[in-house]
Amino acid sequence: MKVNLKYKEQKLDFDKRSLPALIVFLVLLMFGLILYFSWRSGRTPDEEVAKKDITVVTTIFPLYDMVRNVVGEEDNIKVVQIISSGSSPHTFEPSIQNREDISNADIVFIVGAGFDDWVKEMIEDDTNIIDLSEYVDLSSYENVTIDTKMSNKISKFGTSCMQFEGIWLSPYNECENITKEQCSQIGGTFDECASSCRNLDKEETACIQVCVPVCKFKSDKEKSEGGSAEKDPHFWLSIENAKKIVTEIYNNITSLSENNAQELYNNTIRYLTSLDETKQYISSRAEIVQENQLITYHNSFEYFAREFGFEIVATFEEHEGQEPSAKYLTELISIVEEYQISTLYKQPQMSDEVLSAFAEDNDLEIKTLDPLGGGERTGSYIDILLFNIHSIAGSETEGS
Ligand SMILES: [Zn+2]
Repeated sequence: MKVNLKYKEQKLDFDKRSLPALIVFLVLLMFGLILYFSWRSGRTPDEEVAKKDITVVTTIFPLYDMVRNVVGEEDNIKVVQIISSGSSPHTFEPSIQNREDISNADIVFIVGAGFDDWVKEMIEDDTNIIDLSEYVDLSSYENVTIDTKMSNKISKFGTSCMQFEGIWLSPYNECENITKEQCSQIGGTFDECASSCRNLDKEETACIQVCVPVCKFKSDKEKSEGGSAEKDPHFWLSIENAKKIVTEIYNNITSLSENNAQELYNNTIRYLTSLDETKQYISSRAEIVQENQLITYHNSFEYFAREFGFEIVATFEEHEGQEPSAKYLTELISIVEEYQISTLYKQPQMSDEVLSAFAEDNDLEIKTLDPLGGGERTGSYIDILLFNIHSIAGSETEGS
């Protein structure tokens, strides 16, 4: 009661008597602010204060974490992750919030190579988008054993086309009536107004010319001629690639804000050193592994495998995002026998119902490999790598 009263008295006091004093105060404050800002703008750019606010947007968690490490404690730089951890980037549908984040970003880092290129379609001016796949040596999917052995990339496009309720024209590798975004998501080239008569002979006249949206894929033949076979975009799982990406992240952010350069430089050097140490550690753990041939769920571990001396002999997935057919599973059993495989690797972002049943039927152990992380035990890019090598080789504390 007493406290309340005191407060009221004070307030009253202020209202009644200090109005002129308040005006004087406000004038002084304004004067002071003007002085402060003119002083501030007169300062040279290398002084601490002039760090401008920057928003950096990334798609998947591993990139987000790399940016976080480069940025460190520089709180004028905001880092945003678009594809939430735990969801599969291959089936990701961007939200309105995602669109806003992307169009408001000062810089956007994407994986590229067909992985998250839909980001480019979202904004008119894509000069702020840095496609990190341009800074690494990409290997093509052709190197993945299972792909050359069993899966047919073109029919994979056909399935994706039909999933988007498009019309699949198999002889022409074309998908009609899907959107530009869906097309780029599945790696095709979009033409919003192709002629409905494009695939007919000139002599044939019974065709009415109308505009059809068409998503076109290169056939295997065209691919080998053009030398642009489908590239494997999961390059971040190689530490050597990660070092290249991190360097590019540093270069691009500092080009926007020179005043952060010194801090970012120190952070980057520190991070590159820990990446090197992680690589050394993983190599030493990889050496003790007896079973070097692996079957992973999804074909995302080629770069990791190559760097650390493993071989992916098959993927459990026949086509991306689909349950494998019975025929495929029969072939998989023969691979399991051929390489005397004892373990199947599932992936947290993918459903593992069919995999579990298959493993049980064939007496296989199930372990997890995570290419994306962001979970409890994979809360940083380095932790993702450690989680994966421990999954394959066991951790030191477990004594392998
Ligand atoms: Zn993938």
